[in-house]
Amino acid sequence: MRIDHLIDGKSIAGKDYFETINPATQEVLAEVASGGAAEVESAVAAAKEAFPKWANTPATERAKLVRKLGDLIAQHVPEIAETETNDCGQVIAQTGKQLVPRAADNFYYFAEMCTRVDGHTYPTPTHLNYTLFHPVGVCALISPWNVPFMTATWKVAPCLAFGNTAVLKMSELSPMTAARLGELALEAGIPAGVLNLVHGYGKDAGEPLVAHHDVRAVSFTGSTQTGNRIVQAAGLKKFSMELGGKSPFVVFDDADFDRALDAALFMIFSNNGERCTAGSRILVHKGIYVKFVDRFAERARRIQVGDPLDEKTIVGPMISQAHLAKVRHYIELGLKEGASMLCGGLDAPVVPDRVKKGNYVLPTVFAEVNNRMRIAQDEIFGPVACIIPFSDEAEAIRLANDTQYGLSSYVWTENIGRAHRVAAAIEAGMCFVNSQNVRDLRQPFGGTKASGTGREGGTWSYEVFCEPKNVAVSM
Ligand code: NAD
Repeated sequence: MRIDHLIDGKSIAGKDYFETINPATQEVLAEVASGGAAEVESAVAAAKEAFPKWANTPATERAKLVRKLGDLIAQHVPEIAETETNDCGQVIAQTGKQLVPRAADNFYYFAEMCTRVDGHTYPTPTHLNYTLFHPVGVCALISPWNVPFMTATWKVAPCLAFGNTAVLKMSELSPMTAARLGELALEAGIPAGVLNLVHGYGKDAGEPLVAHHDVRAVSFTGSTQTGNRIVQAAGLKKFSMELGGKSPFVVFDDADFDRALDAALFMIFSNNGERCTAGSRILVHKGIYVKFVDRFAERARRIQVGDPLDEKTIVGPMISQAHLAKVRHYIELGLKEGASMLCGGLDAPVVPDRVKKGNYVLPTVFAEVNNRMRIAQDEIFGPVACIIPFSDEAEAIRLANDTQYGLSSYVWTENIGRAHRVAAAIEAGMCFVNSQNVRDLRQPFGGTKASGTGREGGTWSYEVFCEPKNVAVSM
């Protein structure tokens, strides 16, 4: 199979190609066009050309096309989910039941919302001020390899619905489902040039794209390191930067123990642990620490690791051999740093023959972790849990905030006052109380500190994809 760029509604061959590999089997899934500055130039020109007409299309008409794209995704869930699972190793139970259906919802939600964009009025005795929200123009949308389809649609849906045009660049490690998105967008009737796709590596295709002078906004999801680089290369533009995390999952001794345990396991081992909002630092009150650690490790030992196409598999393969090596390196480091490894480690998991060449690592649990250890400070981005004891609320807050990141956070307690105090004190863009991460598309999604700037979701997406203008009329 060959995947080409999509520019101005046409499939454009690459000068070079790279392979995208199934991380469970190492089979080559497709040859993918490797773009650079020339392809970026054509794609941005096509998006710029398409912009005025699309921006001036009535919102109700844009909404129809955007909703139609949602319908087409909904009709193709099994096919897209299987492609996604093969391309990035996320298990089918997640891609088929959660992630791809959520992608359709992204289009439904923003189709509705774009018809309701309103403004504010600020009347004074001398002037009537009111706000207009204009589309921004050509947007660069850059996506990582974890949950690639959902992330791409989370950007494409508001971008297009609000009247912008886009050049989307997927991760070189997981480009397949976005290529399908491009086909479905054309099938839905979205005009040529409104959504363009340039495939390729970050340095070759991503950097010229963000630096392009006709690109007005950059919506980026990826690592903090790349985010910093993009801000420098892009110059003055609108930014939404959704970056890395090392989110605290705080369990007090008065929490609903069983629910907290379930959620803690889910937040670090689902999506293979390759999740930006993973609760990767589990802070547990000393009063329940021993019981919690025992039960957590016992459950982690029983997690099914294996074929991502098997509905019962919880942990699939890591995205690449390089990423597997990184995760294994952190397991070695945890042992060297003196954390206590309760399960998992460097032994190869037993997996079915079909996937025996896969990039597998066992779900690993470290207890007695000191928050200053590197396993507690660095984003491992794999199924590796760090459990850290604390003695009181003040220490829990101090440890939760002792990190460069600030994406998500989780607080478990039955004490309502403490729940609100801790939620307010944690430095993070999001805090879930007595809950795992549950997304509502109206929430502001994003992080603080090294986890990023800007928020997307609901009216927060105006910040990225709309340009507010104040009109002041003299009375
Ligand atoms: P990455 O930063 O390596 O790559 C992300 C994307 O940026 C890819 O498409 C890549 O090709 C591109 N890129 C790389 N260098 C570039 C450059 N110089 N200019 C422009 N584009 C460039 O990240 P990754 O390894 O693909 O993804 C994992 C990271 O993403 C983790 O840190 C994770 O926490 C983060 N993430 C964050 C969120 C969030 O919402 N905050 C969600 C998912 C993933």
